[in-house]
Formats: sequence, C-alpha cells, structure tokens
Amino acid sequence: MKVKIAKHKLTNDELIVYNKPKKVYIPLISGNDTNITILVKKGEYVYKGSMIGKRKGDFRIPIHSSVSGTVLDFEEKTCYNGEKIKCVVIENDFKEKIEQKINIKKTISKYSKEEFLELLKENGIVGMGGAGFPTYVKYEAKNIDTLIVNAVECEPYITADCTLAKAKCEEILETIDAILEINKMKEAIIAIKKENVELKQVFDNFIGTYLKIKIKLVSNIYPMGWEKRLVKEITGKDYSNYPSDVGIIVNNISTIYAIYEALKYNKPLIERIVTFSGEGLEKPYNVLVKIGTPVDEILNQLKVKENSIIVSGGPMMGNRVDELVISSNLNCVLALNENANDVTACIECGKCVSVCPVKLSPVLIMKTKYKKERDIKKIKAYHPEKCIGCGLCSYICPAKLYVRERVKEAKKIVRGDK
Ligand code: SF4
Ligand code: SF4
Repeated sequence: MKVKIAKHKLTNDELIVYNKPKKVYIPLISGNDTNITILVKKGEYVYKGSMIGKRKGDFRIPIHSSVSGTVLDFEEKTCYNGEKIKCVVIENDFKEKIEQKINIKKTISKYSKEEFLELLKENGIVGMGGAGFPTYVKYEAKNIDTLIVNAVECEPYITADCTLAKAKCEEILETIDAILEINKMKEAIIAIKKENVELKQVFDNFIGTYLKIKIKLVSNIYPMGWEKRLVKEITGKDYSNYPSDVGIIVNNISTIYAIYEALKYNKPLIERIVTFSGEGLEKPYNVLVKIGTPVDEILNQLKVKENSIIVSGGPMMGNRVDELVISSNLNCVLALNENANDVTACIECGKCVSVCPVKLSPVLIMKTKYKKERDIKKIKAYHPEKCIGCGLCSYICPAKLYVRERVKEAKKIVRGDK
C-alpha cells in the first residue's frame, strides 16, 4: 500500500546561524551507544574541537566539544531519541579557540585510503540522517563500487539537507568525487525526489565535468529515504544486513558535507543544520547550530507559540519531548499543535498492517500485553525488533493511536533494554 504524506516543507531556503549558546550539553552517545569513556573533568578548559569522550567497544569514535570554555559538570538531558542521556556541560567563553591542526591537504582527493579513514574516524564523522553509524566503518568494507548520496529527505517538514545542498553544492560534488577517487569506486548516484525539481536544477548547474557522478530521480513515496528501499529503487538490489553486502555505501548530504570539512580542514563534527518548523513556530527556518545547544534557546528566537508540543525529529519518526539538546543526528525540531481529543479506540481496520514496509503487524504488537514471560514469547514472535521506526502505522491509523511508540516499547522489551 502506498501512502501519500502531506509535505509541509519550508519554502524558504534562508539559513540562519545560532552560534552563541551560553552553555552546551554535549550528549555522551554515539549512534545508540552510551558506552562512552569520558576524557575531561570538571573545571578543565577545552578548545572548540577538543576530544571530550570516546566510544568504547568496536567503534572507537570520539565526541568533541563544539565550543571553547570550561567543563562545568555532567548532567542528563533529553536527546534526539527522546531519552535522557548523560551530557558534558561546557560554559562557552565565546572565544572559539581551536587546537592547531596539521596534515591538511589542499586537494581533498590526494589522501590515501588509510589517511581518509583516519580523518573520518578522528573527526567523529557519523551518519547524520538518523542512525548515527560511524562513517569510517562503512568505508572499511571490501569491494564497494557505488556511492549513493541520499538527498531524498522524505519526511514532511525536513529541508535541512536540501538547504545545505543548495548552499554548498560545489563542495558536495568535490567531496563525492574525492571519495570515489580515494576509495577507487566506480560511480556515485545522487538520489533526489522527483518532485524536488529545484534541487535537481542546482546539481545540474554544477555537475559539469564530474563524469562519474549521476543524478537519479526517485519516487515521491515514503519512506524512500530508508536505505533498503533507496538501494532497491536505484539499483534493483536487495541486501540483508548492510548496503556494503552488495557493494554500495549510502551517505546523506549532511554526512558528505561533514566529510568535506574533515578532509579540507581536519574539522570534527561539532555543528549541523537543523530544520525548525511546524505550525507552532512563527518563524520556521533552517538553522546552523552547535552540537549540544539547548533547543529552547533557538525556539525562543523563532517565537514558539504557547501550548505547542515539541518533537525531536520529523513528524513520522520523531519523539515528543519536554526539553532537548542538539545532537549530530538530529535533523529536525518541530513545534506542533496537538488535539488529544482525536484519539479513539482501535477499530481493527488493519491499515497499519498494510502500510508497514517491513511487513509487521503493528496492531497485534500494540495489543499484546507483556507482563508475563509467556507474553514476551508471544511478542517476540511478532518481531518488533525489525521495526525501522518509520511511523507509517501511526500516520495511517484512523483512531490516531500512537502505534509506532507501542512497537518501539515492544522492541526494547525484546532486546532486553526494559
Ligand atoms: S513504525 Fe515500525 S511497525 Fe510502524 S509501519 Fe514503520 S516499520 Fe512498521
Ligand atoms: S490502523 Fe489503527 S485502528 Fe486500524 S488496526 Fe491499526 S491500530 Fe487499529
């Protein structure tokens, strides 16, 4: 079943900058992993770009400070996933002091593969579209020949990548070309939604002599930005675990630009563009903001209306939150109106089942109680762990039930997180 989703996209391409938070709260999370070694202590002075934490385990990727200043404390704040995460609190001295960086090449395609991987790793480059997977790990895969650049941005409201692509199109193309050369890959395909004629036009204007880079227009259906669906649509290939199983790497636009800054300036991932939108905002904008900035400060500047509910992420995959700090994989903050009276009982229409892209039965997962061991066995049989969190089940539900949230809870139970 194909679902038409309301767009609500910002028509304004203007990018504003908010770079003066008094304090930042850098979340100690990488992807979904909170197993982070803290590298700083209270009272310590840090530079903008100083390493303040490092992920343990297999992916030893660092986390950096987005300001120069003094470490004040460690505090829990709500992060993109709607959960409280321990953060390093740093008081900004507004001096933007950075550590001296070395080994920067003028031509970004001249790095060896080893240098490329090291720069991505040391600068903490992770997927900025949602999952936050370490990017260097994707490029460590063997026999990769195709790069798909995900410029689809299929959720309503979100235009962060599109705004970035329009502002930095030349740098993005230069980076894609460098990635192909360094990794000896055959081609890159920039995936753009058919309806986004304007973005295609921008790339068409600059693509000129980049013979290995092509643009492919993809269907206007949700969730086209989901890697699995995108790879299938573009190449016809299926895979079970990762796109690299079939020789493909997928990076979104913001990640490509973060790679550019790592290669060009040895700059860590300490800021990003976030879409601030929704009918609860008087002035919706895309904002370039430092990681760790409290979202309230920006919402106040953009004039949030009273009684709005705040959502971290888009309306389909996001989470309702009371407070929030910016993290590297947060692409959107919404202020929405809510009418709680709309919610009614499940009418067993089965629509949530027919829309689910991974063929789950969300209504059955939602209705299963899991108080006893036998209930947990039953819920395991429905495989909630396969849910990609796309939100289509909640979107389509005529009873306006929070189906996705219930599947998310079941997923945690099956994984033993709860
Ligand atoms: S949120 Fe999960 S259960 Fe709901 S439609 Fe998407 S994949 Fe299926
Ligand atoms: S879409 Fe909503 S009302 Fe219909 S079966 Fe699913 S949960 Fe029930």
